[in-house]
Amino acid sequence: MAEQTLKLLVVSDLDGTLLDSDDYSFEAVLPVLDRMDAAGIPLMANTSKTRAEWLAMRGDFGNTQPYVVENGAVLYEGEEATVFGTPRAEILEVLKPLRGLFKFKGYADATMGEIIKWTGLDRKSAERSADRHFSEPLVWQDTEEKQEEFCKMVEERGLRTLHGGRFLHVSGQTDKGTPLAHFRKKEVAIVALGDRPNDLAMLKIADIGVIIASKGDFVLEAEGVLRSTEIGPLGWAEMMTKILDQFQIPQLTTSTEINNG
Ligand SMILES: [Mg+2]
Repeated sequence: MAEQTLKLLVVSDLDGTLLDSDDYSFEAVLPVLDRMDAAGIPLMANTSKTRAEWLAMRGDFGNTQPYVVENGAVLYEGEEATVFGTPRAEILEVLKPLRGLFKFKGYADATMGEIIKWTGLDRKSAERSADRHFSEPLVWQDTEEKQEEFCKMVEERGLRTLHGGRFLHVSGQTDKGTPLAHFRKKEVAIVALGDRPNDLAMLKIADIGVIIASKGDFVLEAEGVLRSTEIGPLGWAEMMTKILDQFQIPQLTTSTEINNG
């Protein structure tokens, strides 16, 4: 039985979790978000995307809640920012002397045309993706051996590297769990949902961690978590429906809306 005083906070990754990883569709989650809204349960985005990217899309979800961007680098509560990451200017300073030793090209060295080509995004979206303040995505142009050596050197200099699809991301020593640990309040139970290794830190901090199934045969290893059977936003809706049912959050139906509203 859920206690009535216990409040829920839902923290979610975006790509492959709240959004389809290929076409960014999210229709499946909307009825669940309505149900959460009616019960006063907030949704907090926790994403590797930039602030500009989330601000451009959060209206689609009717969302005005606090959020975490750039892989745990910064928590925004309204206009107030709490920084956990390393400013990009400092990251670029660390990378400068490494340029003579390794072949790579970062967002900072690229034209917008190149970034569009790398990401496959349209110009506006590419501009938002390039509007970063706490991380630098690199396109690796050297051998794999050299990449290992590079990652070691970056880590020795107090930064971290994260492999994410096309890019090697260089950032400060933070992860998606760090801001969540800071944000969490005693009387709130946190549900966190994600699909990739960079989500594990927030799933660990959460009271209920949920792994959303991925396309292909990728399986994220973790203990003590729930797992969706459906993929992406369908899996998100599947698992959040189960959790809301368990916490006895009222379901929304057309008829009750008409009767009560
Ligand atoms: Mg994801």
